[in-house]
Amino acid sequence: ELASLMDVAVTEVISACMSLGIMVTMNQRLEADTIQLVADDFGFDVVFSNVEEDLEIEDQAEDNPEDLVVRAPIVTVMGHVDHGKTSLLDYIRKANVIAGESGGITQHIGAYNVQLENGQKIAFLDTPGHEAFTAMRARGAQVTDIAIIVIAADDQVMPQTKEAISHAQAAEVPLIFAINKIDKPTANPDKVKEQLANMNLLVEEWGGSIQSQDISAKQGLNVDELLEKVLLEAEVLELKANPKRLATGTVVEAALDKGRGYVSTILVQNGTLRVGDYLVAGSNHGKVRAMLDERGNQVKEAGPSTPVTILGLDGAPTAGDKFRVYEDEREAKQVATKREQLQREQTIRTQKHITLDEIGRRIALGDFKELNIILKGDVDGSVEALTDSLQKLSTEEIHINILHKGVGQITESDVLLASASDAIVIGFNVRPGVSAKEIADREEIEIRNYSIIYDAINDVKEAMEGMLSPEL
Ligand code: GDP
Repeated sequence: ELASLMDVAVTEVISACMSLGIMVTMNQRLEADTIQLVADDFGFDVVFSNVEEDLEIEDQAEDNPEDLVVRAPIVTVMGHVDHGKTSLLDYIRKANVIAGESGGITQHIGAYNVQLENGQKIAFLDTPGHEAFTAMRARGAQVTDIAIIVIAADDQVMPQTKEAISHAQAAEVPLIFAINKIDKPTANPDKVKEQLANMNLLVEEWGGSIQSQDISAKQGLNVDELLEKVLLEAEVLELKANPKRLATGTVVEAALDKGRGYVSTILVQNGTLRVGDYLVAGSNHGKVRAMLDERGNQVKEAGPSTPVTILGLDGAPTAGDKFRVYEDEREAKQVATKREQLQREQTIRTQKHITLDEIGRRIALGDFKELNIILKGDVDGSVEALTDSLQKLSTEEIHINILHKGVGQITESDVLLASASDAIVIGFNVRPGVSAKEIADREEIEIRNYSIIYDAINDVKEAMEGMLSPEL
């Protein structure tokens, strides 16, 4: 490839490499540095173009301010198991009736739009739970504008509730609490709010700034009020998009359907998607043959914050893959091929996540400002003591950020959060579970285990000073 770009013989490139002391074959991929040196030998300058970066840059292309319009918020529901996430999403899906339509949305779909009586819309991602949320984020997809955290009022703030809150906060997504199951005689919403207050999460009734709504998902009680609060939060966020550009967005789910081929539910985040558009999603591409809304009705176009199911891709992209529309088929195909190539390469040299050993080097390079830590311990006392001491290590140059802390084993969700937020995991007298360990190995997430508080603090301190001796 390099030889043909420079219009010289392949053997000339190979011998240029050899003279640099690099033995290569014809089909071997060259390091960027090598390409630069070889090209230099032949009198060429090299400009590297990174497809992913190009895509990002195009995504960020300036919009004309007058083209921007208000878009609907995109909402995810998270919380502890059995606290009522699915019930809430089901109620919203089934109860909501768009003007002129009868009945709610009957089939399950990964994302749907609901329209309130005043005509305003909200898009819901129906993949409840912070694991799905963070798995998408680990793929680089930032989709959610607002997170509803469901907490059962007959129970209390649970470990997964805390996780969900940490995951939303790490993504800088504003929270709204839905205190659920208030129909139950044993429900005590005030107790939940008090617990939240003790975690420095003050709801409005308690003089804080976080919105909260008591609801019964089962009976549909106060769900309207909850949705009003979502819209209020959305107003503050001033969510805007430009319907005049080519569509970009994220894949929510995809599958192979016997009769219809590959069916992908996607969320348009900017621009307008139209039937006939050429689209690349992950490493798949195709012409949009048909588009369906959440009710199975054919639609011709979908603007910002609209979930649609599309037919016509040549495969099933992964949830969290970004998509974008290209001017013509040839360009779409080229990008899809390049992405496939990139993905293959990336699985070989997986992205390097931060480790304590790395910190000193990154600080020296000057591009490291924040050390994210996820902290798990066997008892609350040691978790709090470690949190305090670690936070005190923050300096003007580098801030220590405890993204999530909790009592218990290191879980898959902890490792996913570390991957999405480039954090290290510290375990105090606790170890990762088998699947958490597997993910950590695959994603190259550093998990440090300690049983003496002083050792943990000392290691982080020395790492920040660039003095940590490598772990043997
Ligand atoms: P998820 O695990 O968070 O998705 O929770 P589910 O929505 O599956 O709910 C767990 C259980 O709680 C189910 O048996 C629901 O019927 C019940 N449930 C959910 N919301 C309510 C509610 O508002 N009131 C009552 N009484 N039960 C509820």
